[in-house]
Amino acid sequence: KANRKFHPEDSVVDVNGVSVGGGTLTVMAGPCSVESFDQLEGIARQCKSSGAQILRGGAFKPRTSPYAFQGLGEEGLDILMDVKKETGMPIVTEIMAPRYVELFSEKADIIQIGARNMQNFDLLKEVGQTKKPILLKRGLSSTIEELLMSAEYIMSGGNENVILCERGIRTFETYTRNTLDISAIPAIKKLSHLPVVVDPSHASGLSYMVESLALAAVAAGADGLLIEVHNDPKHALCDGAQSLTPEAFEGVMHKINALKNVM
Ligand code: PEP
Ligand code: MN
Repeated sequence: KANRKFHPEDSVVDVNGVSVGGGTLTVMAGPCSVESFDQLEGIARQCKSSGAQILRGGAFKPRTSPYAFQGLGEEGLDILMDVKKETGMPIVTEIMAPRYVELFSEKADIIQIGARNMQNFDLLKEVGQTKKPILLKRGLSSTIEELLMSAEYIMSGGNENVILCERGIRTFETYTRNTLDISAIPAIKKLSHLPVVVDPSHASGLSYMVESLALAAVAAGADGLLIEVHNDPKHALCDGAQSLTPEAFEGVMHKINALKNVM
């Protein structure tokens, strides 16, 4: 179902009126984790005025250490909904277990499947039973073929609203958190009709690189970007080192728009 052979035209996923795929660039931005209403609302307003269409924010966080901040959970989802009401921005947030599918179907506009759960097949089958747009992130050490097979799990259940996300993969290089696989963009576009979004924040782990990688992704044909933005990166509860300030994000958006205009 994800294969371009049987579906030559690009798919466009409708997210409450915002399109992902089909030649436009959709920018999703926001903090790694929802920390409070005031934090999220402030960031959302600034991201929106810089041109972001969709608000991201984690409520259930897949952290490497069980002692690290795990997210606000359901309270975080409710804050996301409140900020959506204030700003009109659809929200994307990560689900970690099949038992939350009903809750997320009710509260999220896009359900994110994180890199660590790309092959959680029970979870994939469960979100495949909904009609919600799904943002499926490539696993830390997964091939493009494996990513597409995971999309197939969701789509074969009846949910064809899948958006793929390249977020960097593990290589021998340790300078960056992951290595952004730019070639995944044309490769996926050749193999599949699904929209491809790039996450330059988790790909590099370094805020100073986010602009370069975002521009490279747009030049390579990405349908969208997922960028972490925090009002106070130094004190962020999660992923501060890779988070842009709202001011820096505005600068990145200016360059992206300039690049889009010459493409
Ligand atoms: C995230 O988007 O906050 C996240 C945890 O990303 P990934 O699953 O790509 O590591
Ligand atoms: Mn993060």
